[in-house]
Amino acid sequence: MAVQDHQVLIIGSGHAGGMAAYVLAQKGIRCLMLNAGPVADLSRDRRSVPGHEMAYRGLMEPGAIGDGAIGENVLSAFVHPSEVPYTHDADKPYVWVRNRVVGGRSVFWSRQSFRLSDFEFKAKDHDGYGENWPIGHADLAPYYERVEAMYRVTGRPEGLPQFPDSKFTTINETADSDPLKKVIAAGKSRGITISKGRQSLGIDGFASSVNLMLPDALASGNLTIAPNAIVRELTIDKTTGRVNGAHFIDRHTRRELHVKAPVVVLAAGTLESTRLLLNSGIANSSGVLGRYLFDQYYGGTAFAVVPEAVGRVRQGKPMQGFGNGLIAPFRNVTTREKAFIRRYVVNLNAGANPSPEILATYGADLDRKMADYAGAICQGGMMGEVLPRYENHVRINKEVKDVYGIPVLHVSAAYTDNERNMHQDAQDSMADLFQGAGFELLTKSASHREPGQSVHELGTCRMGDNPKTSVLNKWNQSHDIANLLVVDGSAFVTGGWQNPTLTLSALSMRAAEHLAELMRRGDL
Ligand SMILES: Cc1cc2nc3c(=O)[nH]c(=O)nc-3n(C[C@H](O)[C@H](O)[C@H](O)COP(=O)(O)OP(=O)(O)OC[C@H]3O[C@@H](n4cnc5c(N)ncnc54)[C@H](O)[C@@H]3O)c2cc1C
Repeated sequence: MAVQDHQVLIIGSGHAGGMAAYVLAQKGIRCLMLNAGPVADLSRDRRSVPGHEMAYRGLMEPGAIGDGAIGENVLSAFVHPSEVPYTHDADKPYVWVRNRVVGGRSVFWSRQSFRLSDFEFKAKDHDGYGENWPIGHADLAPYYERVEAMYRVTGRPEGLPQFPDSKFTTINETADSDPLKKVIAAGKSRGITISKGRQSLGIDGFASSVNLMLPDALASGNLTIAPNAIVRELTIDKTTGRVNGAHFIDRHTRRELHVKAPVVVLAAGTLESTRLLLNSGIANSSGVLGRYLFDQYYGGTAFAVVPEAVGRVRQGKPMQGFGNGLIAPFRNVTTREKAFIRRYVVNLNAGANPSPEILATYGADLDRKMADYAGAICQGGMMGEVLPRYENHVRINKEVKDVYGIPVLHVSAAYTDNERNMHQDAQDSMADLFQGAGFELLTKSASHREPGQSVHELGTCRMGDNPKTSVLNKWNQSHDIANLLVVDGSAFVTGGWQNPTLTLSALSMRAAEHLAELMRRGDL
Protein backbone atom coordinates (compact mmCIF):
# COMPACT_ATOMS: atom_id res chain seq x y z
CA MET A 1 0.00 0.00 0.00
CA ALA A 2 1.48 3.36 -0.98
CA VAL A 3 1.84 5.82 1.85
CA GLN A 4 -0.11 9.02 1.25
CA ASP A 5 1.13 12.31 2.67
CA HIS A 6 4.30 11.05 4.24
CA GLN A 7 5.49 12.74 7.41
CA VAL A 8 9.17 11.80 7.12
CA LEU A 9 11.42 11.46 4.07
CA ILE A 10 14.21 8.92 4.59
CA ILE A 11 17.14 8.99 2.15
CA GLY A 12 19.00 5.67 1.98
CA SER A 13 18.00 2.13 2.88
CA GLY A 14 21.07 0.51 4.49
CA HIS A 15 21.55 -0.24 8.18
CA ALA A 16 21.07 3.44 9.04
CA GLY A 17 18.02 4.24 6.88
CA GLY A 18 16.50 0.79 7.41
CA MET A 19 16.70 1.20 11.17
CA ALA A 20 15.08 4.65 11.05
CA ALA A 21 12.24 3.28 8.92
CA TYR A 22 11.84 0.26 11.24
CA VAL A 23 11.36 2.52 14.28
CA LEU A 24 9.31 5.30 12.73
CA ALA A 25 6.94 3.21 10.62
CA GLN A 26 6.10 0.91 13.52
CA LYS A 27 5.32 3.96 15.64
CA GLY A 28 2.66 4.92 13.10
CA ILE A 29 4.71 7.63 11.34
CA ARG A 30 4.22 7.65 7.58
CA CYS A 31 7.57 7.41 5.80
CA LEU A 32 8.75 7.71 2.21
CA MET A 33 12.17 6.21 1.53
CA LEU A 34 14.16 7.22 -1.56
CA ASN A 35 17.04 5.02 -2.60
CA ALA A 36 19.51 5.72 -5.38
CA GLY A 37 19.64 2.16 -6.76
CA PRO A 38 17.40 -0.76 -7.62
CA VAL A 39 15.99 -3.50 -5.42
CA ALA A 40 18.84 -6.00 -4.89
CA ASP A 41 18.69 -9.23 -6.81
CA LEU A 42 20.17 -11.31 -4.01
CA SER A 43 20.76 -14.40 -6.12
CA ARG A 44 22.81 -12.35 -8.60
CA ASP A 45 24.36 -9.63 -6.47
CA ARG A 46 25.41 -11.89 -3.58
CA ARG A 47 26.50 -14.84 -5.66
CA SER A 48 29.80 -16.46 -4.90
CA VAL A 49 31.67 -17.95 -7.84
CA PRO A 50 34.98 -19.80 -8.07
CA GLY A 51 38.00 -17.62 -8.87
CA HIS A 52 38.72 -19.35 -12.18
CA GLU A 53 35.27 -18.38 -13.49
CA MET A 54 35.85 -14.69 -12.84
CA ALA A 55 37.10 -12.29 -15.48
CA TYR A 56 40.07 -11.30 -13.35
CA ARG A 57 40.57 -14.61 -11.53
CA GLY A 58 39.15 -13.28 -8.30
CA LEU A 59 41.10 -10.02 -8.36
CA MET A 60 39.64 -6.58 -8.93
CA GLU A 61 38.99 -5.09 -12.30
CA PRO A 62 42.15 -2.96 -12.63
CA GLY A 63 41.53 0.53 -11.30
CA ALA A 64 37.88 -0.04 -10.38
CA ILE A 65 37.94 -0.41 -6.62
CA GLY A 66 41.09 -0.65 -4.50
CA ASP A 67 42.54 -4.14 -4.26
CA GLY A 68 41.05 -6.32 -1.60
CA ALA A 69 38.28 -3.93 -0.54
CA ILE A 70 35.55 -6.23 -1.83
CA GLY A 71 35.55 -9.47 -3.77
CA GLU A 72 34.93 -9.40 -7.49
CA ASN A 73 31.98 -11.72 -6.97
CA VAL A 74 29.90 -8.88 -5.61
CA LEU A 75 31.23 -6.15 -7.89
CA SER A 76 28.04 -6.15 -9.95
CA ALA A 77 26.21 -4.34 -7.17
CA PHE A 78 28.90 -1.80 -6.30
CA VAL A 79 29.12 1.73 -7.65
CA HIS A 80 31.59 1.94 -10.51
CA PRO A 81 33.77 5.07 -10.44
CA SER A 82 32.84 5.81 -14.05
CA GLU A 83 29.18 6.23 -13.01
CA VAL A 84 29.74 8.20 -9.82
CA PRO A 85 33.38 9.30 -9.76
CA TYR A 86 35.19 10.97 -6.90
CA THR A 87 38.54 12.73 -6.91
CA HIS A 88 41.36 12.80 -4.40
CA ASP A 89 44.68 14.60 -3.94
CA ALA A 90 47.22 13.11 -6.35
CA ASP A 91 49.59 12.16 -3.52
CA LYS A 92 46.86 10.87 -1.18
CA PRO A 93 45.12 7.76 -2.49
CA TYR A 94 41.61 7.15 -1.18
CA VAL A 95 39.36 4.15 -1.76
CA TRP A 96 35.60 4.71 -1.53
CA VAL A 97 33.52 1.52 -1.74
CA ARG A 98 29.79 2.12 -2.23
CA ASN A 99 26.74 0.37 -3.54
CA ARG A 100 23.32 1.67 -4.32
CA VAL A 101 21.00 -1.31 -4.14
CA VAL A 102 18.08 -1.24 -1.70
CA GLY A 103 19.70 -2.42 1.52
CA GLY A 104 22.98 -0.68 0.74
CA ARG A 105 26.08 -2.31 2.16
CA SER A 106 24.01 -4.19 4.74
CA VAL A 107 23.56 -6.80 2.02
CA PHE A 108 27.32 -7.47 1.93
CA TRP A 109 28.96 -6.69 5.25
CA SER A 110 31.08 -9.30 7.06
CA ARG A 111 29.10 -8.75 10.30
CA GLN A 112 31.96 -8.19 12.77
CA SER A 113 30.13 -6.40 15.57
CA PHE A 114 31.61 -4.48 18.50
CA ARG A 115 30.41 -1.81 20.89
CA LEU A 116 32.40 1.38 21.35
CA SER A 117 33.57 1.89 24.94
CA ASP A 118 34.02 5.09 26.92
CA PHE A 119 37.68 4.92 25.85
CA GLU A 120 36.24 6.05 22.49
CA PHE A 121 33.16 8.07 23.51
CA LYS A 122 35.22 9.99 26.07
CA ALA A 123 38.58 9.71 24.29
CA LYS A 124 39.62 13.29 25.01
CA ASP A 125 39.32 12.61 28.76
CA HIS A 126 41.89 9.83 28.37
CA ASP A 127 44.57 11.53 26.29
CA GLY A 128 43.52 15.12 25.69
CA TYR A 129 43.24 14.77 21.89
CA GLY A 130 40.22 15.89 19.84
CA GLU A 131 36.68 15.97 21.20
CA ASN A 132 34.51 13.71 23.35
CA TRP A 133 31.21 12.50 21.98
CA PRO A 134 28.21 14.28 23.55
CA ILE A 135 27.01 10.84 24.70
CA GLY A 136 28.67 7.94 26.50
CA HIS A 137 28.37 4.17 26.55
CA ALA A 138 25.60 4.30 29.17
CA ASP A 139 23.44 6.45 26.83
CA LEU A 140 23.76 4.01 23.96
CA ALA A 141 23.75 0.74 25.96
CA PRO A 142 19.93 0.21 25.89
CA TYR A 143 19.94 0.66 22.11
CA TYR A 144 23.00 -1.55 21.64
CA GLU A 145 21.12 -4.28 23.54
CA ARG A 146 18.11 -4.07 21.26
CA VAL A 147 20.19 -4.02 18.07
CA GLU A 148 22.27 -6.96 19.34
CA ALA A 149 19.11 -8.99 19.92
CA MET A 150 17.91 -8.12 16.43
CA TYR A 151 21.26 -8.87 14.71
CA ARG A 152 21.89 -11.89 17.02
CA VAL A 153 25.44 -11.08 18.07
CA THR A 154 27.71 -13.91 19.21
CA GLY A 155 30.98 -13.60 21.14
CA ARG A 156 32.62 -14.32 24.47
CA PRO A 157 32.23 -11.95 27.44
CA GLU A 158 35.50 -10.72 28.94
CA GLY A 159 34.44 -8.01 31.39
CA LEU A 160 37.03 -5.56 30.06
CA PRO A 161 36.08 -1.85 30.10
CA GLN A 162 38.01 -1.18 26.88
CA PHE A 163 36.21 -4.07 25.15
CA PRO A 164 32.59 -3.83 26.37
CA ASP A 165 30.65 -7.06 26.20
CA SER A 166 27.53 -7.16 24.10
CA LYS A 167 24.38 -8.84 25.29
CA PHE A 168 25.29 -11.94 23.31
CA THR A 169 22.53 -14.08 21.83
CA THR A 170 24.90 -17.04 21.99
CA ILE A 171 28.26 -17.37 23.70
CA ASN A 172 31.11 -18.46 21.47
CA GLU A 173 32.32 -21.54 23.35
CA THR A 174 34.59 -23.03 20.69
CA ALA A 175 37.45 -24.75 22.47
CA ASP A 176 40.92 -23.31 22.05
CA SER A 177 43.37 -25.57 20.20
CA ASP A 178 46.72 -26.44 21.80
CA PRO A 179 48.68 -23.90 19.68
CA LEU A 180 46.13 -21.22 20.53
CA LYS A 181 46.44 -22.11 24.22
CA LYS A 182 50.17 -21.38 23.91
CA VAL A 183 49.40 -17.93 22.46
CA ILE A 184 46.90 -17.34 25.24
CA ALA A 185 49.50 -18.29 27.88
CA ALA A 186 52.11 -16.05 26.25
CA GLY A 187 49.49 -13.28 26.16
CA LYS A 188 48.72 -13.64 29.86
CA SER A 189 52.30 -12.95 30.89
CA ARG A 190 52.26 -9.87 28.63
CA GLY A 191 48.90 -8.48 29.83
CA ILE A 192 47.18 -9.42 26.56
CA THR A 193 43.67 -10.97 26.50
CA ILE A 194 42.87 -13.23 23.57
CA SER A 195 39.13 -13.40 23.13
CA LYS A 196 36.88 -14.71 20.38
CA GLY A 197 35.62 -12.75 17.38
CA ARG A 198 32.25 -11.04 17.74
CA GLN A 199 29.81 -11.32 14.89
CA SER A 200 26.16 -10.74 14.01
CA LEU A 201 24.65 -14.08 13.07
CA GLY A 202 21.47 -12.54 11.66
CA ILE A 203 19.20 -15.05 10.00
CA ASP A 204 21.07 -17.67 8.01
CA GLY A 205 24.14 -15.44 8.11
CA PHE A 206 22.25 -12.43 6.72
CA ALA A 207 21.91 -9.37 8.96
CA SER A 208 20.63 -6.77 6.56
CA SER A 209 18.02 -4.04 6.52
CA VAL A 210 16.41 -6.07 3.74
CA ASN A 211 15.59 -9.01 6.01
CA LEU A 212 15.68 -7.57 9.55
CA MET A 213 14.16 -4.10 9.29
CA LEU A 214 12.38 -3.21 6.07
CA PRO A 215 9.88 -6.14 6.14
CA ASP A 216 8.42 -5.03 9.52
CA ALA A 217 8.41 -1.39 8.44
CA LEU A 218 6.56 -2.31 5.25
CA ALA A 219 4.14 -4.59 7.12
CA SER A 220 3.08 -1.63 9.28
CA GLY A 221 1.64 -0.01 6.14
CA ASN A 222 3.54 3.17 6.94
CA LEU A 223 6.52 2.83 4.59
CA THR A 224 6.80 3.32 0.85
CA ILE A 225 10.15 2.63 -0.79
CA ALA A 226 10.98 4.37 -4.05
CA PRO A 227 14.04 2.72 -5.64
CA ASN A 228 16.15 4.31 -8.39
CA ALA A 229 15.59 7.80 -6.96
CA ILE A 230 18.89 9.70 -6.68
CA VAL A 231 18.58 12.68 -4.39
CA ARG A 232 20.57 15.62 -5.72
CA GLU A 233 19.74 18.43 -3.31
CA LEU A 234 17.63 19.22 -0.26
CA THR A 235 15.45 22.32 -0.52
CA ILE A 236 14.83 24.94 2.15
CA ASP A 237 11.80 27.05 3.02
CA LYS A 238 13.26 30.54 2.87
CA THR A 239 10.81 31.90 5.44
CA THR A 240 11.35 29.31 8.16
CA GLY A 241 14.85 28.12 7.26
CA ARG A 242 13.61 24.56 7.59
CA VAL A 243 14.15 21.81 5.06
CA ASN A 244 11.00 21.33 2.99
CA GLY A 245 11.83 18.86 0.24
CA ALA A 246 14.31 17.17 -2.05
CA HIS A 247 15.14 17.26 -5.73
CA PHE A 248 15.79 13.76 -7.05
CA ILE A 249 16.60 12.17 -10.39
CA ASP A 250 14.87 9.10 -11.77
CA ARG A 251 17.81 6.76 -12.52
CA HIS A 252 16.14 5.30 -15.62
CA THR A 253 14.55 8.33 -17.29
CA ARG A 254 17.00 10.93 -15.87
CA ARG A 255 13.94 13.13 -15.21
CA GLU A 256 14.26 15.47 -12.26
CA LEU A 257 11.42 15.52 -9.73
CA HIS A 258 10.74 17.21 -6.43
CA VAL A 259 9.24 15.65 -3.32
CA LYS A 260 8.07 17.52 -0.25
CA ALA A 261 9.59 16.63 3.09
CA PRO A 262 8.11 17.76 6.43
CA VAL A 263 11.11 16.06 8.10
CA VAL A 264 14.24 14.61 6.45
CA VAL A 265 16.24 11.67 7.85
CA LEU A 266 19.46 11.48 5.86
CA ALA A 267 21.07 8.02 5.75
CA ALA A 268 22.84 7.86 2.41
CA GLY A 269 26.08 6.45 3.89
CA THR A 270 28.78 8.63 5.45
CA LEU A 271 30.22 10.38 2.42
CA GLU A 272 27.08 10.48 0.26
CA SER A 273 25.17 12.19 3.09
CA THR A 274 27.89 14.80 3.44
CA ARG A 275 28.12 15.25 -0.33
CA LEU A 276 24.37 15.87 -0.45
CA LEU A 277 24.51 18.47 2.34
CA LEU A 278 27.50 20.22 0.75
CA ASN A 279 25.78 20.25 -2.65
CA SER A 280 22.68 21.71 -0.96
CA GLY A 281 24.76 24.38 0.80
CA ILE A 282 23.04 23.82 4.16
CA ALA A 283 23.69 22.74 7.78
CA ASN A 284 27.18 24.19 7.85
CA SER A 285 27.16 27.28 10.07
CA SER A 286 29.96 25.59 12.03
CA GLY A 287 32.18 25.24 8.97
CA VAL A 288 33.12 21.69 10.00
CA LEU A 289 30.80 19.86 7.58
CA GLY A 290 33.13 17.64 5.54
CA ARG A 291 35.91 17.86 8.18
CA TYR A 292 37.26 15.14 10.49
CA LEU A 293 37.11 12.22 8.06
CA PHE A 294 38.53 8.97 9.41
CA ASP A 295 38.18 5.22 9.05
CA GLN A 296 40.02 2.26 10.55
CA TYR A 297 43.66 1.41 9.87
CA TYR A 298 44.05 -2.15 8.59
CA GLY A 299 47.57 -3.58 8.61
CA GLY A 300 49.46 -6.86 8.71
CA THR A 301 51.46 -7.69 11.84
CA ALA A 302 53.59 -10.85 11.77
CA PHE A 303 53.74 -14.36 10.30
CA ALA A 304 55.00 -17.33 12.29
CA VAL A 305 55.17 -21.09 11.83
CA VAL A 306 53.48 -23.33 14.41
CA PRO A 307 55.99 -26.22 14.80
CA GLU A 308 53.49 -28.98 15.63
CA ALA A 309 51.46 -28.22 12.47
CA VAL A 310 54.39 -28.41 10.04
CA GLY A 311 54.04 -31.10 7.38
CA ARG A 312 50.59 -32.21 8.54
CA VAL A 313 48.71 -31.07 5.44
CA ARG A 314 51.28 -32.81 3.22
CA GLN A 315 50.81 -36.00 5.25
CA GLY A 316 47.02 -35.74 4.85
CA LYS A 317 46.53 -35.10 8.60
CA PRO A 318 45.81 -31.35 8.91
CA MET A 319 45.52 -30.02 12.43
CA GLN A 320 41.83 -29.79 13.29
CA GLY A 321 40.17 -26.86 15.03
CA PHE A 322 43.26 -24.69 15.01
CA GLY A 323 41.08 -21.67 15.52
CA ASN A 324 40.88 -17.92 15.40
CA GLY A 325 41.05 -15.37 18.17
CA LEU A 326 40.69 -11.69 18.73
CA ILE A 327 43.31 -9.83 20.72
CA ALA A 328 41.49 -7.26 22.83
CA PRO A 329 42.94 -3.73 23.09
CA PHE A 330 45.87 -3.71 25.50
CA ARG A 331 47.83 -0.52 24.74
CA ASN A 332 46.85 2.86 26.25
CA VAL A 333 44.40 1.24 28.64
CA THR A 334 46.13 1.52 32.01
CA THR A 335 49.44 2.77 30.67
CA ARG A 336 50.42 5.43 28.16
CA GLU A 337 52.49 4.73 25.04
CA LYS A 338 55.06 7.34 24.02
CA ALA A 339 54.79 6.81 20.27
CA PHE A 340 51.01 6.83 19.77
CA ILE A 341 47.64 7.40 21.39
CA ARG A 342 44.49 5.22 21.12
CA ARG A 343 44.18 1.48 20.64
CA TYR A 344 44.13 -1.42 18.21
CA VAL A 345 43.00 -5.05 18.13
CA VAL A 346 44.37 -8.00 16.19
CA ASN A 347 42.36 -10.66 14.40
CA LEU A 348 44.41 -13.85 14.87
CA ASN A 349 44.25 -16.54 12.26
CA ALA A 350 46.07 -19.74 13.15
CA GLY A 351 46.16 -22.52 10.57
CA ALA A 352 46.63 -20.40 7.45
CA ASN A 353 48.65 -21.29 4.35
CA PRO A 354 51.90 -19.41 3.58
CA SER A 355 52.28 -17.14 0.58
CA PRO A 356 55.66 -17.13 -1.23
CA GLU A 357 56.56 -13.55 -0.28
CA ILE A 358 56.74 -14.36 3.43
CA LEU A 359 59.32 -17.12 2.89
CA ALA A 360 62.88 -15.86 2.41
CA THR A 361 63.87 -18.55 -0.05
CA TYR A 362 63.33 -19.68 -3.65
CA GLY A 363 63.45 -22.67 -5.99
CA ALA A 364 63.15 -26.18 -4.55
CA ASP A 365 63.44 -24.95 -0.98
CA LEU A 366 60.49 -22.58 -1.55
CA ASP A 367 58.42 -25.47 -2.95
CA ARG A 368 59.29 -27.62 0.07
CA LYS A 369 58.44 -24.92 2.58
CA MET A 370 55.18 -24.04 0.84
CA ALA A 371 54.15 -27.70 1.22
CA ASP A 372 55.51 -28.10 4.77
CA TYR A 373 53.98 -24.91 6.12
CA ALA A 374 50.55 -25.42 4.55
CA GLY A 375 48.00 -24.96 7.35
CA ALA A 376 50.79 -24.13 9.83
CA ILE A 377 50.94 -20.33 9.65
CA CYS A 378 49.82 -18.11 12.51
CA GLN A 379 49.19 -14.50 11.50
CA GLY A 380 47.35 -11.44 12.70
CA GLY A 381 45.64 -8.50 11.00
CA MET A 382 45.36 -5.32 13.04
CA MET A 383 42.41 -2.94 13.13
CA GLY A 384 43.49 0.38 14.63
CA GLU A 385 41.96 3.72 15.45
CA VAL A 386 42.54 6.57 13.00
CA LEU A 387 42.62 10.01 14.62
CA PRO A 388 39.90 12.42 13.52
CA ARG A 389 41.86 15.33 12.04
CA TYR A 390 40.50 18.64 10.75
CA GLU A 391 42.85 18.43 7.73
CA ASN A 392 41.36 15.12 6.56
CA HIS A 393 38.26 16.28 4.74
CA VAL A 394 35.91 16.11 1.77
CA ARG A 395 34.67 18.99 -0.35
CA ILE A 396 32.71 19.40 -3.58
CA ASN A 397 34.70 19.30 -6.80
CA LYS A 398 32.67 21.58 -9.05
CA GLU A 399 34.80 20.69 -12.07
CA VAL A 400 33.66 17.06 -12.18
CA LYS A 401 30.10 15.73 -12.35
CA ASP A 402 28.72 12.19 -12.19
CA VAL A 403 26.65 10.76 -15.03
CA TYR A 404 23.54 12.30 -13.41
CA GLY A 405 25.08 15.78 -13.57
CA ILE A 406 25.73 16.01 -9.82
CA PRO A 407 29.05 17.55 -8.68
CA VAL A 408 31.33 14.92 -7.16
CA LEU A 409 33.22 14.70 -3.91
CA HIS A 410 36.91 15.46 -3.55
CA VAL A 411 38.65 13.57 -0.74
CA SER A 412 41.83 14.75 0.96
CA ALA A 413 42.90 12.30 3.63
CA ALA A 414 46.11 10.66 4.77
CA TYR A 415 47.37 8.57 7.66
CA THR A 416 50.01 10.13 9.85
CA ASP A 417 52.65 9.10 12.38
CA ASN A 418 50.13 8.13 15.05
CA GLU A 419 48.68 5.40 12.82
CA ARG A 420 52.11 4.38 11.52
CA ASN A 421 53.63 4.13 15.01
CA MET A 422 50.64 2.14 16.20
CA HIS A 423 51.15 -0.22 13.27
CA GLN A 424 54.82 -0.65 14.14
CA ASP A 425 53.84 -1.49 17.71
CA ALA A 426 51.33 -4.09 16.47
CA GLN A 427 54.04 -5.72 14.33
CA ASP A 428 56.55 -5.80 17.19
CA SER A 429 54.10 -6.97 19.84
CA MET A 430 52.68 -9.78 17.67
CA ALA A 431 56.19 -10.94 16.68
CA ASP A 432 57.05 -11.05 20.37
CA LEU A 433 53.79 -12.82 21.27
CA PHE A 434 54.21 -15.52 18.62
CA GLN A 435 57.80 -16.16 19.68
CA GLY A 436 56.66 -16.25 23.31
CA ALA A 437 54.25 -19.02 22.27
CA GLY A 438 57.18 -21.01 20.88
CA PHE A 439 56.40 -20.35 17.20
CA GLU A 440 59.09 -19.64 14.61
CA LEU A 441 58.85 -16.03 13.43
CA LEU A 442 59.02 -15.80 9.63
CA THR A 443 58.62 -12.08 9.13
CA LYS A 444 56.84 -8.98 10.31
CA SER A 445 54.35 -7.41 7.92
CA ALA A 446 54.32 -3.69 7.19
CA SER A 447 51.59 -4.01 4.55
CA HIS A 448 48.51 -1.90 5.13
CA ARG A 449 45.41 -0.68 3.36
CA GLU A 450 44.94 2.78 1.93
CA PRO A 451 42.65 5.29 3.64
CA GLY A 452 39.02 4.34 2.97
CA GLN A 453 39.82 0.75 2.05
CA SER A 454 38.52 -0.63 5.35
CA VAL A 455 35.05 0.40 3.99
CA HIS A 456 34.45 2.10 7.35
CA GLU A 457 34.55 5.78 6.36
CA LEU A 458 33.29 7.88 9.27
CA GLY A 459 32.94 11.46 10.46
CA THR A 460 32.50 14.64 8.31
CA CYS A 461 29.14 15.55 9.92
CA ARG A 462 29.97 15.03 13.54
CA MET A 463 27.74 15.43 16.56
CA GLY A 464 28.56 17.57 19.58
CA ASP A 465 27.11 19.93 22.16
CA ASN A 466 28.75 23.00 20.65
CA PRO A 467 27.11 24.22 17.39
CA LYS A 468 30.33 26.06 16.56
CA THR A 469 32.40 22.87 16.38
CA SER A 470 29.85 20.25 15.35
CA VAL A 471 27.10 19.79 12.76
CA LEU A 472 24.60 17.65 14.71
CA ASN A 473 23.36 17.62 18.28
CA LYS A 474 23.42 14.49 20.43
CA TRP A 475 20.16 13.29 18.84
CA ASN A 476 21.64 13.37 15.29
CA GLN A 477 19.62 16.51 14.61
CA SER A 478 21.18 19.39 12.66
CA HIS A 479 22.09 22.30 14.96
CA ASP A 480 21.02 24.65 12.15
CA ILE A 481 17.86 22.93 10.87
CA ALA A 482 15.69 21.19 13.47
CA ASN A 483 13.73 19.05 10.99
CA LEU A 484 16.89 17.54 9.46
CA LEU A 485 18.57 14.44 10.96
CA VAL A 486 21.68 12.61 9.73
CA VAL A 487 21.80 9.08 11.14
CA ASP A 488 24.72 7.28 9.48
CA GLY A 489 28.45 7.02 10.20
CA SER A 490 29.05 10.65 9.28
CA ALA A 491 27.81 11.58 12.79
CA PHE A 492 30.75 9.80 14.51
CA VAL A 493 33.12 11.91 16.59
CA THR A 494 35.73 9.15 16.96
CA GLY A 495 35.61 5.64 15.57
CA GLY A 496 38.02 3.61 17.67
CA TRP A 497 39.28 0.32 16.26
CA GLN A 498 35.72 -1.05 16.12
CA ASN A 499 33.87 -1.91 12.95
CA PRO A 500 31.15 0.75 13.07
CA THR A 501 27.88 -0.82 12.00
CA LEU A 502 26.57 -1.95 15.39
CA THR A 503 27.13 1.57 16.71
CA LEU A 504 25.61 3.40 13.75
CA SER A 505 22.57 1.11 13.91
CA ALA A 506 22.11 1.83 17.63
CA LEU A 507 22.54 5.57 17.01
CA SER A 508 19.95 5.52 14.23
CA MET A 509 17.49 3.64 16.47
CA ARG A 510 18.04 6.17 19.28
CA ALA A 511 17.71 9.16 16.95
CA ALA A 512 14.52 7.80 15.35
CA GLU A 513 12.89 7.18 18.74
CA HIS A 514 13.73 10.70 19.83
CA LEU A 515 12.37 12.09 16.57
CA ALA A 516 9.12 10.14 17.03
CA GLU A 517 8.78 11.58 20.53
CA LEU A 518 9.38 15.14 19.28
CA MET A 519 6.73 14.60 16.61
CA ARG A 520 4.27 13.13 19.14
CA ARG A 521 4.72 16.15 21.39
CA GLY A 522 4.35 18.50 18.42
CA ASP A 523 7.82 19.87 19.10
CA LEU A 524 9.04 19.75 15.55
C1 LIG B 1 32.46 -6.19 2.02
C2 LIG B 1 32.11 -5.36 3.24
C3 LIG B 1 32.35 -5.88 4.51
C4 LIG B 1 32.01 -5.14 5.65
N1 LIG B 1 32.19 -5.71 6.89
C5 LIG B 1 31.80 -5.05 7.99
C6 LIG B 1 31.90 -5.66 9.27
O1 LIG B 1 32.34 -6.80 9.42
N2 LIG B 1 31.47 -4.95 10.36
C7 LIG B 1 30.99 -3.68 10.25
O2 LIG B 1 30.64 -3.08 11.28
N3 LIG B 1 30.88 -3.09 9.04
C8 LIG B 1 31.27 -3.73 7.91
N4 LIG B 1 31.13 -3.14 6.69
C9 LIG B 1 30.65 -1.75 6.62
C10 LIG B 1 29.12 -1.70 6.70
O3 LIG B 1 28.58 -2.36 5.61
C11 LIG B 1 28.68 -0.25 6.74
O4 LIG B 1 29.23 0.38 7.89
C12 LIG B 1 27.17 -0.06 6.88
O5 LIG B 1 26.48 -0.99 6.11
C13 LIG B 1 26.81 1.37 6.49
O6 LIG B 1 25.40 1.52 6.53
P1 LIG B 1 24.71 2.86 6.00
O7 LIG B 1 23.25 2.64 6.05
O8 LIG B 1 25.27 4.02 6.73
O9 LIG B 1 25.23 3.06 4.51
P2 LIG B 1 24.98 2.19 3.19
O10 LIG B 1 24.82 0.77 3.52
O11 LIG B 1 26.03 2.58 2.24
O12 LIG B 1 23.56 2.69 2.66
C14 LIG B 1 23.40 3.93 2.04
C15 LIG B 1 22.20 3.87 1.11
O13 LIG B 1 21.96 5.20 0.64
C16 LIG B 1 21.64 5.15 -0.73
N5 LIG B 1 22.05 6.43 -1.33
C17 LIG B 1 23.32 6.90 -1.47
N6 LIG B 1 23.28 8.10 -2.06
C18 LIG B 1 21.98 8.40 -2.29
C19 LIG B 1 21.30 9.50 -2.91
N7 LIG B 1 21.96 10.56 -3.37
N8 LIG B 1 19.94 9.44 -3.03
C20 LIG B 1 19.25 8.36 -2.55
N9 LIG B 1 19.85 7.30 -1.97
C21 LIG B 1 21.20 7.33 -1.83
C22 LIG B 1 22.40 3.97 -1.29
O14 LIG B 1 21.71 3.47 -2.38
C23 LIG B 1 22.43 2.99 -0.11
O15 LIG B 1 21.40 2.06 -0.23
C24 LIG B 1 31.45 -3.84 5.52
C25 LIG B 1 31.21 -3.32 4.23
C26 LIG B 1 31.53 -4.07 3.11
C27 LIG B 1 31.24 -3.50 1.75
